[in-house]
Amino acid sequence: MYYVRSVAKVMGKNNKKNYKNNTSEKVVLEARFFSYYKGAFVLKLPIGKNAASFGILFIGRKVTDTNVVKHEYGHRIQLKKMGFFRYFSRVAVPSVTANILYKMKKLPYDYYGSPWESAADFFGGVDRKTGGNIWPAGAYNSYSDLLKLF
Ligand SMILES: [Zn+2]
Repeated sequence: MYYVRSVAKVMGKNNKKNYKNNTSEKVVLEARFFSYYKGAFVLKLPIGKNAASFGILFIGRKVTDTNVVKHEYGHRIQLKKMGFFRYFSRVAVPSVTANILYKMKKLPYDYYGSPWESAADFFGGVDRKTGGNIWPAGAYNSYSDLLKLF
């Protein structure tokens, strides 16, 4: 019941603010369950500071950095430009695998400096002050060579 009342309250608020047209990252970060960002549906999840994007933006409830919202929106633009298969193979898979390596402290480069992550930053309008050094040529050769087989 509490949940239903909370959702109803949020929806009431949504109508007042015309949520679907929201372009404020702060509104997304302050939302409890869902919101919209530049026409994209945003689901808030109990996944800490993590975030992901596959058409819908998934933002962890503990995310406080507006760049995270912009970055995930950038991935949404990549999906629209690339289509499902190319986005899956050239963004989603390398992003997830690089993220695993990063969390194991085994990624020798800046996570956000990879071609797929720096492109998401670019499309989302992220102004990253640190941690976005572009990967050197050859840093991801084995993966891109593998993709050329398909
Ligand atoms: Zn990303």
